[in-house]
Amino acid sequence: MKSVYFDHAATTPVHPEVLEAMLPYFSEQFGNASSLHSYGQLAARAVEEARAQVAELINCDPREIIFTGSGTEADNFALKGIAEKLKSRGNHIITSSIEHHAVEMTCRYLEKRGFHVTYLPVDKDGLVHPEELKKALTDQTILVSVMHANNEVGTIQPIKELAQIAHERGVLFHTDAVQTVGSIPVDVKDLGVDLLSLSAHKFYGPKGVGALYMRKGVAIEPLIHGGGQERNLRAGTTNVPGIVGLGKAAELAKKELRERMEHNLNLRERLIKGLEERLSDYVLTGHRTLRLPGNVSICVQYIEGESMLLLLSAEGFACSSGSACTSGSLEPSHVLLSMGIDPQLAQGSLRITLGRENTVEDVDRFLEVLPKVVERLREMSPFKPRK
Ligand code: PLP
Repeated sequence: MKSVYFDHAATTPVHPEVLEAMLPYFSEQFGNASSLHSYGQLAARAVEEARAQVAELINCDPREIIFTGSGTEADNFALKGIAEKLKSRGNHIITSSIEHHAVEMTCRYLEKRGFHVTYLPVDKDGLVHPEELKKALTDQTILVSVMHANNEVGTIQPIKELAQIAHERGVLFHTDAVQTVGSIPVDVKDLGVDLLSLSAHKFYGPKGVGALYMRKGVAIEPLIHGGGQERNLRAGTTNVPGIVGLGKAAELAKKELRERMEHNLNLRERLIKGLEERLSDYVLTGHRTLRLPGNVSICVQYIEGESMLLLLSAEGFACSSGSACTSGSLEPSHVLLSMGIDPQLAQGSLRITLGRENTVEDVDRFLEVLPKVVERLREMSPFKPRK
């Protein structure tokens, strides 16, 4: 039986060309990018090339890119670094109620450090309304952070409009674009954001490397102190192979973006249509059209997401229920609850996230398997109304 990976929002396989680009930096080109000799210079040059590749993908100056150890670190850096820098100006931060834990938990931490955080509500499709942001801004607000697209339901936010509203009040705007960079066009100038987080492993790069875009002129406090790497903003010996991998993944994403989007969109629509024809008592969660091309997320009545995952896994399908971090816990996802989904229905959440190696045949086989899995579980379900 063929194994089918339908969990690209959790992570993606490293692209063969990315791996090939990285390998020499583990062996013959192993230099420390801060060393002055030829080994160091070679490594430093590779890092700067990667910086240019990432900058090219999101349309900024390479000097506006700071490499980090993950998307989570980029989010922590943006929020804690700006909060620390601007704390004499104000102590209010605005975010949304559906952020990834990397932003949500950082906000909870900042609350313990004396900051006030407003969690903007979302509508049933997971959209933040610009009016809500206008209402929440105060003279104390120093930062707004709203994710570009949600990792569970795939809804894409009106970032351009939200950033403009923040700027009208002189407030900085950060977006967690971990789910969008490499999946849809992301142009920091067009979006008008001041800070943006991204992560290599979501677009066929390696795990453990990310970046923070920071617009020229924005000042931030470092999170990690030590050596002078990354212009004194992020200490630690440079992860040369990882950064080279991120750079290559960015170059490939730029080249293949249209093709990848079209591929995912075709599979997504085939899957959504197929579900409409074959499955009963479920809802599609997230916005119908303003959603990531590779995201299909549903909530199925009367059963639990975890049991669906196990039976699907036995049939060769790797999917997810809510986000990878929340699966395993019995709490329904905060994203689905914020969207007003009934807690019991939210227990039956299933996320299918598509990628470049998935095929029409994979989708068609899934459409055969899922209804049978659901039927089997419903027969055992104590929640299912009996006739
Ligand atoms: N933000 C979002 C929206 C994500 O989906 C993820 C990963 O799941 C992260 C942040 C964290 O990124 P990383 O895995 O690189 O720490």
